[in-house]
Amino acid sequence: MAKGRSFGAKLAHEASAEGKIICSKCNTEVKKIKLVKAAKSKNDGWLPKYGFVDICKCNEKDILAGKV
Ligand SMILES: [Zn+2]
Repeated sequence: MAKGRSFGAKLAHEASAEGKIICSKCNTEVKKIKLVKAAKSKNDGWLPKYGFVDICKCNEKDILAGKV
């Protein structure tokens, strides 16, 4: 199990190092956040749909308010 854990830690480290983007409009760091939306399933039910969005000062209000 130790092997699997170290692999996950390596991935997390690389993602955080690569993912640092500064927005050219508001000059703040653009962060990737995980968003959960409701999506209709084939069986006429609702399923949570997971996705990642880029968030910075330009759009954080809309995203946090659920408009996007
Ligand atoms: Zn921005």
